[in-house]
Amino acid sequence: MKESIVEKLMETPDKKAAHNTQPDQRDTGSNTPLDFIRTIVTEDLKTNKNEGRVATRFPPEPNGYLHIGHAKAICIDFGIAEEFGGTCNLRFDDTNPVKEDVEYVDAIQEDVRWLGFSWEDRRYYASDYFEKLYECAVRLILAGKAYVDELSAGEIREYRGTLTEPGKESPHRNRSAEENLELFRQMRAGEFEDGTCVLRARIDMASPNLNMRDPTLYRIRRASHHRTGDQWCIYPMYDYAHSLSDAFENITHSFCTLEFEDHRPLYDWFQEALQLPFRSRQIEFARLNINYTVMSKRKLLQLVQEGLVQGWDDPRMPTLCGLRRRGYTPESIRNFCDRVGVAKRDNVVDVALLEHTLREVLNAKAPRVMAVLHPLRLIIDNYPEGLVEQLDAVNNPEDPAAGTRKVPFSRELFIEQEDFMENPPKKFFRMAPGRTVRLRYGYLVTCVNVVKDDKGEVTEVHCTYDPDSLTGNPANAPKVKATLHWVSAMHCMPAEVRLYDRLFSVENPSDEKDGKDFKSYLNPNSLEVIHSCKVEPALADAQPGGRYQFERLGYFCADLDSRPGALVFNRTVTLRDAWAKIIQGGKQ
Ligand code: ATP
Ligand code: MG
Repeated sequence: MKESIVEKLMETPDKKAAHNTQPDQRDTGSNTPLDFIRTIVTEDLKTNKNEGRVATRFPPEPNGYLHIGHAKAICIDFGIAEEFGGTCNLRFDDTNPVKEDVEYVDAIQEDVRWLGFSWEDRRYYASDYFEKLYECAVRLILAGKAYVDELSAGEIREYRGTLTEPGKESPHRNRSAEENLELFRQMRAGEFEDGTCVLRARIDMASPNLNMRDPTLYRIRRASHHRTGDQWCIYPMYDYAHSLSDAFENITHSFCTLEFEDHRPLYDWFQEALQLPFRSRQIEFARLNINYTVMSKRKLLQLVQEGLVQGWDDPRMPTLCGLRRRGYTPESIRNFCDRVGVAKRDNVVDVALLEHTLREVLNAKAPRVMAVLHPLRLIIDNYPEGLVEQLDAVNNPEDPAAGTRKVPFSRELFIEQEDFMENPPKKFFRMAPGRTVRLRYGYLVTCVNVVKDDKGEVTEVHCTYDPDSLTGNPANAPKVKATLHWVSAMHCMPAEVRLYDRLFSVENPSDEKDGKDFKSYLNPNSLEVIHSCKVEPALADAQPGGRYQFERLGYFCADLDSRPGALVFNRTVTLRDAWAKIIQGGKQ
């Protein structure tokens, strides 16, 4: 069932495009079409545009942690530069000091590095250009292309008009360059209160594109900037700073998400109006959306600030630090971004595809171990007391080089509570009275008896074992339909295990219908903590971040909170897609 969802996803046009993004396919000269961005870059290289140079940038605003949507942008910006022998700059778009912080600057760098990309020595900040941006604004004023406006924010909005009505010109639109220059100087010198006036581009109040109706370039804001301190009280607006920063850095291809498509004429206008020696080209692609989560820094910040999650790196968050803590590998996220591909129309990707991609990577790499989440004591009555055997267990059947390890076996074990039923229904093949099952890497055991507490709960399962069954089924052994995982009671380690599920219980929590807030769709069962788990001794020195497959249970990783003697594991993902089952079967 899982497969069918994933296969369906893989047939989408986006997926087909993704297939074609592999460098080996590009270089073979095969007929498979490139995605539209790589087509443009290839074409530009062919015509020797920009002297055959490819220079991109990734421009995060340091006002939150990166999420998996940003990973898509990172894979495009850094990935394409890499593929075409170019460079990619990391540039912090730090033009709004009120919301930005150095904590975010540090986290963003850690995340980009973790994903496996490098900006080498090319780390820039829009704030590096504040002086240059100011000079450019002066040039626009001198050219009659910018003016200081004292209309209030509300009035500016009102004067802007609508999609069907042209805007109205501000009464201050036609003052002389000298007057504008003096007012702008005063703005910078701190002679006006916040909000008294702004600098606007003088473009066209009747333009069908609202972004071209004299957009704001500078506003007064007395706020300390994490890099420039109190040096400035005016700050440039994003569109202005972004276009010029691209041009200053000689960025050849400036990739961004579709919502900036309508801003492209403005992006071009700035570079044109200033006659900058280098012109960058903006190219828009569809943003990544995934169901059952939200992908907006503003919303993620709310979850953090209101304590609805345990922080930016809560393993339920779609942030890169959250996914990392959950146990995602950088490779799995890069593979996912490749699969999703580059398209020009917005769509929503099923989280099942992300999980499928993760399983592929973990299946190949994660060592197998045994852990019991809900322990039930199993006693082998005919196994010699005090005897301990070291059984050979395969570390990873997908990777013979991973070798084997020893797992201690003794008379008292723990098995999973749900692997035993006193009165099993027809299709239950695991342990039950009179039933024989195999213990993984161990013997056949047959249930002979149970012990119950005064509430009637089974507390011990008693078995006998067949000493000849270790390496295979003895000739006259009963047919066995189940193999159970287990740990040795006297050797296992206690552990806390955190089971995570979707953060939201609806597919599109951002669809805030009927006055409902996205937070009202949070899944109340997104975290279940189990305290009394038992894991095999090989996990005693599991390091935070270590990833494992707990046999039959799923993929888990040691949490940052994990310590020797106080082990904590996060469930990264289940082995099978339980969610698809819920949708399709309405059961379990
Ligand atoms: P958010 O909407 O989550 O607040 P943002 O666009 O404001 O994100 P930025 O820091 O400005 O965040 O984004 C840096 C880059 O990442 C931009 O080029 C932006 O287009 C891109 N980006 C942001 N979100 C996504 C997404 N969901 N899918 C693909 N690219 C994205
Ligand atoms: Mg942005």
